[in-house]
Amino acid sequence: MLPKEVMQQAQEELVNWQGLGTSVMEVSHRGKPFIEVAEQAETDLRELLNIPHNYSVLFMHGGGRGQFSAVPLNISQPNDLSQHLVTGQWSISAEQEAQKYTRTKIVAKTQQHNGKIYVPKQDEWSISENAGYFHYCTNETVEGIEIDWVPRSDSGNIPIVADMSSNILSKPLNIDDYGIIYAGAQKNIGPSGLSVVVVRNDLIGSQRKETPAIFDYQLQAESGSMYNTPPTFSWYLAGLVFRWLKRQGGLDAIASLNAQKSETLYKQIDASGFYRNNVEDEYRSKMNVTFQLIDETLNSLFLEQASENGLVALKGHRAVGGMRASIYNAMPLEGAIALADFMKEFERKNG
Ligand SMILES: *Cc1c(COP(=O)(O)O)cnc(C)c1O
Repeated sequence: MLPKEVMQQAQEELVNWQGLGTSVMEVSHRGKPFIEVAEQAETDLRELLNIPHNYSVLFMHGGGRGQFSAVPLNISQPNDLSQHLVTGQWSISAEQEAQKYTRTKIVAKTQQHNGKIYVPKQDEWSISENAGYFHYCTNETVEGIEIDWVPRSDSGNIPIVADMSSNILSKPLNIDDYGIIYAGAQKNIGPSGLSVVVVRNDLIGSQRKETPAIFDYQLQAESGSMYNTPPTFSWYLAGLVFRWLKRQGGLDAIASLNAQKSETLYKQIDASGFYRNNVEDEYRSKMNVTFQLIDETLNSLFLEQASENGLVALKGHRAVGGMRASIYNAMPLEGAIALADFMKEFERKNG
């Protein structure tokens, strides 16, 4: 979901934006009014994430998956070895896409212990310091797995590339730890159609000659992400979301709220043997809380009654079944409390 305040502002200015008598969707991306919006969005994002000057911020097309291709095209050669941590559906998809462009190696995969999924500690990975970039996904939406620590690059030479599509802006980050972070916008930033890339400047300029121009980091950096027409409405709305985040108190404040929301739900899941979550505590996602009903025959009743109570979109991904509550930044604490209360009541009636 998007913050209601942001949606209302967008609605109010939809047909008459900045008193210009037109919509932001109708103006030229090269005109002054839009350029100002674009620049302000970058400034606000830089402030929120505390992005150092030696990093560029790109506003690109192609969503999260577009970057699965753009990353290898920009920073690897066909014979290099990209190294991947596989923790779920998104990180395996990134590895499979990278195979089209470069050699790949999976350095580790999630494991299970006593029915709980965990990520092996880095000491157990086979990451090679003389190989190419290292890629991982900080939050897997399908499985509900989030990694809070940053993998080390011992020599400092391996760029760490992180797919943060589903938890960017949910908490503060130390950008210096990364070579590239990227995110499709539609989970925590704004509408689909936009992806945000934060890339360390020394990684720009090694793109292969066959790299599509719109995926070329150098070209996009040099043209202020306006080599071609950018997704202007998504960019504008992302800018409103950045402003909203600043009004909430920035990323420290939103992180503490996100922790409260997810704890509310995990506490309810763990309260009895009626529900279950199969992720080790340390790796439980604060964005996508997955859970199962021990008695799976109650699944459809649960979903039906939840929906009658205004609690929707709770069906788990078909690959894992069960339930999933996606509680991105814009979900208020009351939403999590309402779900926890419903779960308690459902258990009382059916347990
Ligand atoms: C949603 C998501 C994607 C896919 O993004 P698209 O914009 O649909 O390509 C990629 N990675 C992660 C971690 C996601 O959550």
